[in-house]
This record gives sequence, structure tokens and C-alpha cells, in this order.
Amino acid sequence: MAGPGGEEDGVPGGGRRGASAGGRGGTSGEERGAALDRVKLLAARYRAAGERPYLASALYALSVVPSAGVPTMGVDRHWRCYVSPAFVEATSVPELAGVWIHEVAHLLRDHHGRADRLAAADQRDRFRINVAQDCEINDDLLADRLTLPEGRMEPRLFGLPEGLLFEEYLPRLPAHVRAPDCGSGAHGRPAPWELGDASGTAGLGPVEAEALRRHTAEAMRAHQRARGSLPAGWRRWAERTLEPVVDWRRVLAGAVREAVAWAGGAVDYTYRRPSRRTPALRGAVLPSLRRPLPRVAVVVDTSGSMGEAELAAALGEIGGVLREVGLRGNRVTVLACDADVHAVSRVTSAEQIALAGGGGTDMRVGIRAALAARDRPDVVIVLTDGYTPWPGENPSCRLIAALIGEDPPAPPGWVETVRIPPGA
Ligand SMILES: [Zn+2]
Repeated sequence: MAGPGGEEDGVPGGGRRGASAGGRGGTSGEERGAALDRVKLLAARYRAAGERPYLASALYALSVVPSAGVPTMGVDRHWRCYVSPAFVEATSVPELAGVWIHEVAHLLRDHHGRADRLAAADQRDRFRINVAQDCEINDDLLADRLTLPEGRMEPRLFGLPEGLLFEEYLPRLPAHVRAPDCGSGAHGRPAPWELGDASGTAGLGPVEAEALRRHTAEAMRAHQRARGSLPAGWRRWAERTLEPVVDWRRVLAGAVREAVAWAGGAVDYTYRRPSRRTPALRGAVLPSLRRPLPRVAVVVDTSGSMGEAELAAALGEIGGVLREVGLRGNRVTVLACDADVHAVSRVTSAEQIALAGGGGTDMRVGIRAALAARDRPDVVIVLTDGYTPWPGENPSCRLIAALIGEDPPAPPGWVETVRIPPGA
């Protein structure tokens, strides 16, 4: 995989052409094949924006990069949309309009940001992530009666239900699946045909992108009020994006519930001999759908400046969710991480956690201790004031950071973060 700055090889002379450049004499990428039919491509975008006006701003924020390397169309994290001239030539305008909406959906739904937060083991196969993401998008687009080209991915191809998020599709997909590569704007890994970060080609920054997501969600809400209709997938997305007041209890409970559900599904389809009491299956070895309950470790920073009340409230919330999903006893471990003595102790109740005060926390010690246990946890929840180094890469588990206190420093982007303000 090419690193930043090393990716321009895939797009020889990879400069972006201005929107007015319709004639010949363009980039070498185009000289190798047919020239990009910009009129057709932009007519398709015009059609998509006209039919789904709430997507217009997002669609027009995409900058077009012609590329002979991209199989069809794809996007990077900077809202640059790579387009194969041959694909445009071979595809009808209504289908191209559907693909425009498909590509912008990867970016609006922050697929690359969410892919960064997957466990390291799940991040390895970008094509599998891409298929799961395409399933998340395409069922909604087809329900919205949009036209998509042949060969598209959708949940029913894998016997899966519609309306799930890609994180839910991912563990349910067959082992080896392939899809057209939708680029780093989808699965997060730079494709060979992408321009590097340092290419100087215009693109959108993360702050602009976030503002555009909010704007789009607001436009969807306005559209729904005026017309009374919005596809269910977009309605759910807009609601999540516009969630007005962040109630940390709900967010934390949601994060824990989702991580536990994910961990429960991640060990799916292991070939195990089914129970002999199932007569129809006697002797057959079939994928078992029984999922072992996941294990959860809670690592508590005892040396921080966190309030005792907030810590107790957070532990109470986590305990409540875990009991609700049936996790108790030896499935849940609580570790107190005291950086002063570099000791990690296993505690059996929240009352045993003594806050020592003072600074100098290293929660990596606690996370490492949790993962070294014989009964390795699938989910690690860290309660800290945030003044700690974090592991260099995503460990092979779901990691949730509950940051307690006033304006704590942010962990790396791939750590799922819930902020618990003082006095909450
Ligand atoms: Zn895609």
C-alpha cells in the first residue's frame, strides 16, 4: 500500500482538470484511454441533485479527478471523486446519477472515519469492509428507487437483512468477498489510483466535511417536513447527525451495547457440531449460529483528576448495560490502574476503587494487563481523565474511552470516545 506522497504513480500526471476543460490535450491518464465525457458525467450529477435536492450541496462539494486507474468511480477522504472515463462511456446517465449518490453516501456516512475505529483485525481486508459499506448504502438507494449499475453489492446477495450498519454486516459476510474499490473515502486505505495528501489538489478538510454533513442532515429534515418523505436509511442517519444534546449516559450505553453486540457477532459461523438433539441435522457439520457471550474489561484510571461522582455514575451506567445484555460474573472484569505504583489490580466492586489523585497516568498499562488475561476481553472500556498515552494501534478488540472531566485531551481517532462532563 502506498504511503502519503507515494500514490501519484497510479494517476500519471495526476493533476485535476478544471471543470471547464472539456477538450483534448489533458492529462496523460486520459491520453492512455478515452477522454472523460464531462458533459455526461456532470449531467448525471445534475440529475442526482435535482431528484434528491437535499444531497445537492454534498454532490457539488465533490471535485472530479479523471483516472484510468479507478475501476468505476471512487472517493478519497478529501471528497475527491475519481472517475474512469471508460466507465462513464459505458454507463447510462440514470445509472451514473445513482453512482454519484452512492459515492457521496460513503463520505456523508463517514465510512472512512468509522472504518478507522474498527478493531485492527477487521481493518486488514479493505475489500470486505467495502462490501459491507456498499450493503449499508445500496439497500437504501434501491428502496429509494434509484438505478444502479449491474454487479452492485446488496445485503440480499448474502442472505442478510436490509437496514443494518456496515459494522453489523461485516462479521456476517462470507470469508472472501470482493467489490469494486470505492477508495479511501470508504474503507479508509489509500487506493493506488488516489492522489496523495500532498498532491496540492483541492479537497475538503475534516471540519468542512463535518459542517457539510450537518448541513445535509438539516436539508433532509427540511425536505421531510415539506414533502413528508425521506428514505428510512437517510432519516436515521440525519437523526443521528443532528442529535441535539449529547446525553453521555445514552451515548455510553449505546457504545457499550453496540460493542458487545459486535463482539458477539464477530465469532459467528464457526464450524461446530450442532446438538444431537436436532434430528434433521444429525451427522451434519453446519455453521453454528450459537455465539459465545463476549467478555468485557473495564479499566479505571485511579490517579486522575476525575470526580468521584462522575466515575461512580459512569460505572453504574456501564454495569446497568452489561447486566441488561446478560453479561455478569466472570464475563466482566474491572481493573484499577494506578500509575504511581504501575500496578493493576482486579476489583470485584466499584466501591473497591480508591482514587489516588495526582497525575502521571499511563492507561496503556491497564489496557495491556486487560488484554493479557487468560480470558481475553473482546471489549475494553477505559475510564480516564484523558491525560494518558494511548496504544499506537488499535488492539484486536473494541476500545471505548469514557473521558471524565473538564475538556479532556482527545484520544486517537480510532478510539471510540464518550465525554462525561463534570457535574453530569
Ligand atoms: Zn461503494
